[in-house]
Amino acid sequence: HLSYIPYEAEECSNHHDVSSSLIPSHLDSVSSLKTLSLDGYLIFDDTHYASKDFGNTVNLLPLAVLHPKSVRDIATMINHIYRLGATSDLTVAARGHGHSLRGQALAYQGIVVFMESLTTPKMQIQPGEDPYVDVSGGELWINILHETLKHGLAPKSWTDYLYLTVGGTLSNAGISGQAFRHGPQIHNVYRLEVVTGKGEIVICTKKQNANLFYAVLGGLGQFGIITRARISLETAPSMVRWIRVLYTNFSLFTKDQESLISSHKSFDYIEGFVIINRAGLLNGWRASFNAKDPVQASKFRSEGKTLFCLEMAKYYHPTETEIINQVALLLNPKLSIIIPEYQLTSEILTPVKLVLQETEAQLAGMNYIPSTVFTSDVPYLEFLNRVHNSEVQLQEKGLWNVPHPWLNLLVPKSRIDDFAKEVFGGILTTSVNGPILIYPVNQSKWDNKTSLVTPDEDVFYLIGILSSVTGSGDLEKLVKLNSKVVELCEAKAIAMKQYLPHYSTTDKWRAHFGSKWERFVENKLLYDPLSILAPGQKIFQKPR
Ligand code: FAD
Repeated sequence: HLSYIPYEAEECSNHHDVSSSLIPSHLDSVSSLKTLSLDGYLIFDDTHYASKDFGNTVNLLPLAVLHPKSVRDIATMINHIYRLGATSDLTVAARGHGHSLRGQALAYQGIVVFMESLTTPKMQIQPGEDPYVDVSGGELWINILHETLKHGLAPKSWTDYLYLTVGGTLSNAGISGQAFRHGPQIHNVYRLEVVTGKGEIVICTKKQNANLFYAVLGGLGQFGIITRARISLETAPSMVRWIRVLYTNFSLFTKDQESLISSHKSFDYIEGFVIINRAGLLNGWRASFNAKDPVQASKFRSEGKTLFCLEMAKYYHPTETEIINQVALLLNPKLSIIIPEYQLTSEILTPVKLVLQETEAQLAGMNYIPSTVFTSDVPYLEFLNRVHNSEVQLQEKGLWNVPHPWLNLLVPKSRIDDFAKEVFGGILTTSVNGPILIYPVNQSKWDNKTSLVTPDEDVFYLIGILSSVTGSGDLEKLVKLNSKVVELCEAKAIAMKQYLPHYSTTDKWRAHFGSKWERFVENKLLYDPLSILAPGQKIFQKPR
């Protein structure tokens, strides 16, 4: 039943507005949708809030937005459209927080399901030996963090930014600095409730309806809408020792990153980023980080060189006395950031002293530029929610809701030197106006049964070129840079995979999924045979 229609031709028509021109078949659709009995409601007018995403380069107006109040609402809607069969070209896109980049959560003239409206049943935390939380697929990760922390618990694996929904990140992977140890978020889920493209409500786990469970994880919304998820939890730390060190030598930087992710005793979070042509960067850090050796750090000059920053974090639970000491130090930053011995009241190794010893021991064996150790001790919540601070600042300057032509890649370890030489030493020689992330993860922690595709190596790197458009002409320039990076990988046979992928032809999707493509198509036929779901991914097209 699947028609593989190349999408190339549609690329230039990403801006449709149908508000005032409903064609007859849509008038029929509107009247049939209005007959549905729902706990929530449908909105047909002024649906612009569901026509854009964070990427802000695509604008596609839906026919209607469903604000579901129950899983039944979503099932009723999809089943209705499924039963209309090929006589209707209606499609359905779940919209999490709409933080996709290329219109993946949009449905042109279709129905957008506003997942954040699905707030019942309430979040339920199960403490005990293997703690977990049951949440709505439309729940924001920041809310899960707030709620689980009340019980001294928290999810194990995160994204850098927490104003994303569970369904949105589980449809991709959910990767951050904890993924080297715990795997991405899709590997920290016990159970899902899913509404398939036929409108069936199915519970799935690794044992029950396992094929659907694995298909949906990393499945780009193609096989069902995640309405509920059971997420594994761990005891939450209260504080985080957050450390940044700098390198000019890329090989030493990656050597240290790879050594850290291979050790069981290393940090709890490992990331890194590239700093290109950024004067005064260290001054900016001084507000939140303390230089271990302030005099030497103030003498450090990058002299226009590209720098690589390794970012690490160690979690810990300070005692009450230690918290008081921390506060005293914060109030009086002139004291050393390393808590002096005399302030520790106990002879026993206390958590702060222990974390200091452990981090010092780790750092001692590393190859960073010695004068560039920057440390900060922050509450766990503040650490995890760190990108939100940048968001607030950018919002104030009107620089948050700008176009974001981001490119995310997973690059195999064996080719990371070639990639870096050409990309950081050639293509990206000027700042791209946004962070460039680079950090390795262990394939062994990732379950290959999900729909996510990764490079076929034990260790691979996440590269995130997270550009913002701030001036005229920037968009074209940045899109061209992205294309150059992708073309470079093709030309040099660097077997990378796009993360949060975007392709415009079926051949490219087939190449992206590689050996997983056939199963992906089979699963589509099983769970969404009319290609109703997630049309914005542009993988399958509803037959007309
Ligand atoms: P949406 O954009 O709303 O949806 C994404 C896709 O999933 C769409 O195809 C949609 O139809 C589908 N979908 C949404 N909800 C459901 C559901 N309940 N069931 C089935 N399908 C659904 N990613 C990382 O891995 N690590 C990061 O550190 C990270 N940081 C980010 C920081 C920022 C500032 C931004 C904007 C994005 C970041 N991302 C990161 C990417 C992010 O994880 C994805 O874009 C994610 O899809 C966004 O979640 P969302 O809730 O906004 O989903």
